[in-house]
Amino acid sequence: MRRYRPSCRIAMETEDEQTETDMLLKNQIIETEIEDLTNEGLGVGKWDGQAVFIKDTVPGDRVRALVIKVKKTYAYARLQEIIRRGANRVEPVCPAARACGGCQLQMLSYSAQLVWKEKKVRDTLTRIGGFAGDSFPVFPVLPAESTLHYRNKAQYPVGRGQNGEPQIGFYAGRTHSIIETEDCSIGHPGDREIIECVRTWMKEHHVNGYDEAEGSGLVRHIMVRSAYETGERMTVLVVNGRRLPAEESLCRSLMALPGMCGVVLDRNETRGNVILGRDGRVLAGRDYFVDYIDGIRYKISYRSFFQVNPRQTRRLYETAVSFAGLTGKETVWDLYCGTGTISLFLARQAARVYGVEIIPEAIEDARKNAAENGMNNARFFVGKAEEVLPRMYEQEGISADVMVIDPPRKGCDEAVLRTMAAMAPQRIVYVSCDPATLARDLKYLAGAGYRVEKVQPVDMFPQTCHIETIVLLQKLNS
Ligand code: SAH
Repeated sequence: MRRYRPSCRIAMETEDEQTETDMLLKNQIIETEIEDLTNEGLGVGKWDGQAVFIKDTVPGDRVRALVIKVKKTYAYARLQEIIRRGANRVEPVCPAARACGGCQLQMLSYSAQLVWKEKKVRDTLTRIGGFAGDSFPVFPVLPAESTLHYRNKAQYPVGRGQNGEPQIGFYAGRTHSIIETEDCSIGHPGDREIIECVRTWMKEHHVNGYDEAEGSGLVRHIMVRSAYETGERMTVLVVNGRRLPAEESLCRSLMALPGMCGVVLDRNETRGNVILGRDGRVLAGRDYFVDYIDGIRYKISYRSFFQVNPRQTRRLYETAVSFAGLTGKETVWDLYCGTGTISLFLARQAARVYGVEIIPEAIEDARKNAAENGMNNARFFVGKAEEVLPRMYEQEGISADVMVIDPPRKGCDEAVLRTMAAMAPQRIVYVSCDPATLARDLKYLAGAGYRVEKVQPVDMFPQTCHIETIVLLQKLNS
């Protein structure tokens, strides 16, 4: 075990006495200055050279904290008192900000969030991608105009309180205990009345919230999806069963809310963390909503992915299209295309666009979206990108001038990267929601004949530690 310098001796609170020790132990109270934030937004202090991670702190804070877990080279501590506030510390807007797992950075000023996100992208590209700091420009983060109430989608877990009453809110950080939330600071302001509607119906008809431990109870989640341009919104009740008591009365009150275009029952009778089940039934209205981005009309099924910050989405897509450098003659592939959102932005400026996506409903939406917007130069394929692309390349000899990829957090399967490198498009535009997997994949592509030209982070998720990044890669010797 490591020994600490006598100057580092600290008071340790045990159950009935205080003793002096020179080792970092669980239950010690330490005083430290926060120097940095981890990628997940935890404050990083130091104790005798060892990192101590402290949630709810920001750089510049001097804090007193209780050590809760000690590992070989680092420890976790819980904030007890802020002795001195960091210069960029602000008062969180949401009263549940500390307990809730959703917003990690609400106590950091927005300008400091942007600086930190840019640094996170730079550092990750260097640490995981192995790129020297001056290899290519990383532009300042494109900020969001609205830093609160920007989300168009929320999934509220529903549980059961001690007296059987419904509990509706968000999970506390790293747990599945529900914190009742009346008004989420980054959610749509109208979600509140939907939650109240469901809560009232549950109480009136003695409907139980879901008990995860027992796998019993009926209502598991309330998913709300809202469109910003059209004002449409829909409610999805994820249910551990096939039917709801007094379905009609619930639907009547929900459909009476402004803009409500559909109520869907999604059946999920499995145990585990996956929110949506395998099938759904429309209880009222329809199972999709309509929104517009830059004049393009998108129909989005309740199961399909749609960027959660619609105002920033336009800037994200505009940047992706400008990086693609289209002249109207190109063949473009859009991998992980969802409902064809970026594909249709691209199709306005390319000869033809091919989209690939794993969720069949999203591809149905994509096809309809292309048709309804009068774009007949976009075609879509259902399947895993890592299967569809190699198969079509090997069997049908497809080609690409430009490829746009927007994978989920885990990044691209190697088969996708390998096939892209073999197809040798002039440009690859990589849209990423996880700098770590982005850095890993860029390293692969850099080793396969591509040069990273520029990097543009876009803040799609203010108040959280997440950051979206768009990268342009250029084929070497082309
Ligand atoms: N470009 C779209 C969607 C990006 S999110 C947009 O901006 O809206 C990533 C998408 O990849 C999701 O729609 C997800 O369903 C899809 N996906 C996940 N794994 C996949 C895989 N292996 N192959 C193809 N698509 C996949």
